[in-house]
Amino acid sequence: MSHIVHVAVQTPAHSAVGDLLSYRSDEELTPGTLVRVPLGKREMLGVVWDQPASAEPIPEGIELRGIAGVLEGIAPLSQDWRRLVAFAAHYYQRSVGEIAVSALPPHLRDMTPEQLARRLAPPKAAKTKATNPKSRNQKAQAETIEETTVAVAEVVATTATISLVALSAEQALVFEQIEQQSGPFLLYGSTGSGKTEVYLRAVQAVLDANPQAQALVMVPEINLTPQLEERFVARFTPQYGKDAVVSMHSGMTNPQRLKSWLAAHTGRARIVLGTRMAIFASVPQLALIVVDEEHDASYKQQEGARYSARDLALWRGRAVGAKVILGSATPSLESWHASTPEVGRYLRLNMPSRIGSASLPRVRMVDMTQQPKRAVFSPPLLDAITERVKRGEQSLILLNRRGFAPVLFCADCSWKSDCPHCSAHQVFHKGDRTLRCHHCGFTQRVPFACPSCGNPDIMPLGKGTEQLQEELERLLRNVQRPDGNPARVGRIDADTTKAKGSLEQQLAQVHAGDVDVLVGTQMVAKGHDFRRITLVAAVQPDSALYSSDYRAPERLFCLLMQAAGRAGRDAQYVTAQDSHPEMWIQSHDAQNAVYAALRKHDYPAFAKQQLQERLDAGMPPYAFQAIVRADARTQEAAQAFLLAATQVARDANLPYLDEVFIYPPSPWPCSVWPMWSAPRCCWKPPTAAPCCAF
Ligand code: ADP
Ligand code: ZN
Ligand code: ZN
Repeated sequence: MSHIVHVAVQTPAHSAVGDLLSYRSDEELTPGTLVRVPLGKREMLGVVWDQPASAEPIPEGIELRGIAGVLEGIAPLSQDWRRLVAFAAHYYQRSVGEIAVSALPPHLRDMTPEQLARRLAPPKAAKTKATNPKSRNQKAQAETIEETTVAVAEVVATTATISLVALSAEQALVFEQIEQQSGPFLLYGSTGSGKTEVYLRAVQAVLDANPQAQALVMVPEINLTPQLEERFVARFTPQYGKDAVVSMHSGMTNPQRLKSWLAAHTGRARIVLGTRMAIFASVPQLALIVVDEEHDASYKQQEGARYSARDLALWRGRAVGAKVILGSATPSLESWHASTPEVGRYLRLNMPSRIGSASLPRVRMVDMTQQPKRAVFSPPLLDAITERVKRGEQSLILLNRRGFAPVLFCADCSWKSDCPHCSAHQVFHKGDRTLRCHHCGFTQRVPFACPSCGNPDIMPLGKGTEQLQEELERLLRNVQRPDGNPARVGRIDADTTKAKGSLEQQLAQVHAGDVDVLVGTQMVAKGHDFRRITLVAAVQPDSALYSSDYRAPERLFCLLMQAAGRAGRDAQYVTAQDSHPEMWIQSHDAQNAVYAALRKHDYPAFAKQQLQERLDAGMPPYAFQAIVRADARTQEAAQAFLLAATQVARDANLPYLDEVFIYPPSPWPCSVWPMWSAPRCCWKPPTAAPCCAF
């Protein structure tokens, strides 16, 4: 007998086909079953959604296409998982099929049920029929999804017991509260206060309490997963086996992703580590979710189906009764607000002290209005860097702008290197003599002369990391390291790390001490444990203070705090050399409240001041905002469209519209541009994450 099944399929965007499609099936299918179904001429992956098939007989005269196959061997996705997908689809205004299918490993989409069955076959089964050449092939395939974690697991498995460090008093208190309260928790702890150790203990506690329990631990960036994975593998695989810890992030191959996904889905994996995409993992026995660096913008998916993995973590935790821990040294103002006693939605846990005697760096402000004009490095900062080089210590110089100069300029006719395809400037890259638009990606060769008046003397305006490196090499050319060699200046940014593995390689050079001064963008400010860096300097951080993006000061503060956290990680090293770690800030607005709070490492003071501003301006978290964004070749076209959309909203007489404030259309705010170019409008959004992506 035939049944109707409703299947969530990724239909073409804006096709108005609807969320769920009806198919015919000869057998009853449990909701959550993975199937392949025909759609037009193609065959697609789908998930059987609610309504048991038997409830609906096919009405007379209706022809339905049959499902093409069931992905046997994979248990149906749970109702909890489907609820999460349905919620996200509704909240972020996408189709259920789009969210559901994009949340599954890509390999499932590409494989036929037969291929999958082969992939799922245990290698042993293949071995018994090894005489058959086809089966040998099967075995090889099964082995390709085994990966390198085996080696790691074997090494640690020989260590029979793990000796745990004694928790600090602050850690112990926090851990006890996580045990006794239901949360959600905001763990507010300085960099190096031992938050990761608390996560490890909290995970241990839920795994110990229930032999099926699983934990999901999220980090903002792929670069941070290997470090974390190492710690979790070392801690948990001796007790729970080599499959207990799996990773999920977009840097993995499709077979690896499928393998991790299956391990989590079947419950074999007890701990899933991942980036934002991991929030949609099928984790049937989820008991704990950790969101590390919860303030990080990377938790927001900004392209395609948008979502905030942090917000979904809170929703998912509540829906399934899993504890949720958000952790940060500089929480998002939303989370901070939610954890104030007055609001009380999250329980705030404090760990103000760094572990051991590692101290937070002293913050040194340089008032640039009192320094020689045009100097990128003020004399006192240059002296401090020089001193470090001579002592064999490292310095980290931060600038939020890659390339050599943000724009080329002709003094004769005022020509500027504007991008012909959008309204951003094209950035001058000296290394390969190109002009590149960091917004739309358009790239061309540097002209030999001004394209508008022929003047051969076009010049770079402003500074990027490439120029900073060049300038430092010149300024430090006569400075020697303790070993008598000349000072070495390195650079790490999106341009130097394009090739696979190059970031790791360059970081290794820093760790090995091959670099004395490292110039970099925010890429290097996050998470990395640079043991020998005793000086961090932000040379031109001011532009974020005047950005029209109300989150820019928050991002700046957090970036500088994080960067400061890079200095003096190794107390032993610092005290042995008798030098105090320092964070230098060059500013034309040295009295600004943001810097005043930073000087005292006083996040609460910063948050208080910013929240007051948000309250006064009616901004989140005191109001909800939605952005309607239009992209167009010209500002006029985008503006006209948005004005028309405003009118439609008003004419439609939507409920509660009188409580909604509709802002007039305005250009996309962009805090990366230096002040002198601020009036330019950008109607084309950046290709990567907005603003902070350089
Ligand atoms: P965070 O995640 O807050 O930056 P970590 O958990 O990485 O901090 O801890 C910083 C350093 O201190 C790490 O090297 C870690 O091994 C160590 N550490 C953490 N907790 C303790 C403890 N209770 N006793 C000794 N060392 C600890
Ligand atoms: Zn010119
Ligand atoms: Zn462009």
